[in-house]
Amino acid sequence: GTNTSDDSNKTLVDSNASEKTLEREDSIDSQDGIIHHWDRGNSLSVTLKEWDIPFEQLKLMDKIGTGRFGTVYKGTWHGQVAIKMLHMDPDSDNNQAQLSAFKLEVAMLKNTRHENLLLFMGACMKPPHLAIVTSYCSGQTLYTYVRTNAREKFNMNKTIMIAQQIAQGMGYLHARGIIHKDLKTKNIFLENGKVVITDFGLFSVTKICHGNRKGDWLHISPGWLCYLSPEVIRCLHSGRSKVDLPFSEKSDVYAFGTIWYELLVGDWPFRNQPPECIIWQVGRGIKQSLGSVMASKEVKDVLMDCWSYQPDDRPQFRALLKLVEKLPKKRLVRSPSHPVHLSRSVDS
Ligand code: ADP
Ligand code: MG
Repeated sequence: GTNTSDDSNKTLVDSNASEKTLEREDSIDSQDGIIHHWDRGNSLSVTLKEWDIPFEQLKLMDKIGTGRFGTVYKGTWHGQVAIKMLHMDPDSDNNQAQLSAFKLEVAMLKNTRHENLLLFMGACMKPPHLAIVTSYCSGQTLYTYVRTNAREKFNMNKTIMIAQQIAQGMGYLHARGIIHKDLKTKNIFLENGKVVITDFGLFSVTKICHGNRKGDWLHISPGWLCYLSPEVIRCLHSGRSKVDLPFSEKSDVYAFGTIWYELLVGDWPFRNQPPECIIWQVGRGIKQSLGSVMASKEVKDVLMDCWSYQPDDRPQFRALLKLVEKLPKKRLVRSPSHPVHLSRSVDS
């Protein structure tokens, strides 16, 4: 079973918080090489301390779900928050390295401030309680949205508004040198029409989690595969570990293409095909056919640009934003009385 947190994470009361805080600050300075090194150079550890949340101050409530990195809880810390608990790998012999990797992720997260990015509030950085605290999203994910709001799929204005906001948030991340690595509709929330992107940059923390690895093999689900660019997919083939996959700004753009497809069609590409088939096709540059997607050429062109086989042929988010903004804001697809058939009926 899972180690640390299932029983220990219930409600914890904030007892002598200030003392605890001091103790934690000391431990951050002395615990790992990277922080130490930067500390001498200047002050990463000082700024990281500002983001350190003593685990005792968090109140964990409902468990929302478990994903690749750990378990997400609804909780409170100066109001409602989402708490992503990462489980350290108990079998690992390099916990220090893992902790350093986690702290580097935190150092990166604290520099993200954008309207369309999930608000990072702080982190628990003392093992075994590694957690990331963010604002809580009460809206639905884009994944649910595109699959339930059949009519909205045919509202190009709404689709463009969503795509614009994703492109803006992603353009910001890339400008800050952050690659998302796990851009997918399940990591995008919609709150009153506002797009909120989550889980950026966390992918490399995967190695400090356990439960998703089966031996040395990657855990591959279709819902992950269809966002992976050809160059990334080809590395799955050679049995590399997840952390070595060649993610780049351009692999994020490929993933955006898949999101654009989902917005148009309401489902993933290569629906119902086994992973081996998807890997084989994408790795060779075979794309999901758009023959039955009722959209204008410009709309399909955006998709094809993002899905370009060569990373260099894919646009930057800045350019993508311009492309999307230029699209005519009108109904570009047939009305639901002439259903678009791809994998499901629009009336379902
Ligand atoms: P995944 O992204 O693959 O669904 P996660 O571990 O990221 O897996 O999330 C687990 C669950 O927690 C999902 O149902 C997700 O929608 C939800 N969740 C994640 N972050 C938040 C948040 N900030 N606010 C509300 N729910 C969240
Ligand atoms: Mg997520």
